[in-house]
Amino acid sequence: MGKATRGEPQLVILLGPPGGGKGTQAKLLAEELGLVHLSTGDILRDEVRRGTPAGIQARVYMEAGELVPDELLGRIVRERLEALGPGQGCILDGYPRSLPQARYLEGIRGGTPLTVLNIEVPEEVLVQRLAGRRSCPVCGKVYNVHFSPPRVAERCDDCGSELQRRKDDQDEVIRERLRVYRETTRPVVDFYRGLPGYHEVDGSGDAAQVFEAVKRAVGILAS
Ligand code: AMP
Repeated sequence: MGKATRGEPQLVILLGPPGGGKGTQAKLLAEELGLVHLSTGDILRDEVRRGTPAGIQARVYMEAGELVPDELLGRIVRERLEALGPGQGCILDGYPRSLPQARYLEGIRGGTPLTVLNIEVPEEVLVQRLAGRRSCPVCGKVYNVHFSPPRVAERCDDCGSELQRRKDDQDEVIRERLRVYRETTRPVVDFYRGLPGYHEVDGSGDAAQVFEAVKRAVGILAS
């Protein structure tokens, strides 16, 4: 494990609860470090949209706020990691989310240096973020009705399409996702905590503030 540096093959893992801002930070950091961004949630949503066998299997779990079986995720992540070019590093956003997944990843990552960023956010903030989240089905732009609303209610600023709420951002499903996080994903934090490349970041501010903290944690900015 070590410092995340541009141009080196490496694996960065982003941990944190649903609504914790992993996706946003992963995109920013991938760009900053020139890494491939692998979001298992985005990959699964794409499989669901395309109606592939993996998507058909995953859909019921996702809509209920449950975790998709470890075997399916293991196959997806292994294939994506194998497809990386020589010397190409990546950011894993949303994986591992259970102890068996963390152990599996240890088995397949070889000697690739690891940086683990755990984004911590209080649960009240998470509920507000998830319940307020809207996204544009056409261009993918993400909004929040409380923190970053569109100029015209429920319409995308860029393309005017009607914004949508993710099926798994409905109130009951949010509660279930947070329960699954506490029970199944939280132990993954303890799995990595204490290792030299492990960093904790306060994720309760806005995206720009959190990104400053992320960059400090991985040693891109002087603190
Ligand atoms: P996300 O967009 O990261 O919140 O993921 C959306 C949903 O995809 C989750 O609620 C799970 O149902 C599923 N999912 C994503 N990543 C994983 C994973 N590593 N293990 C199991 N299920 C996952």
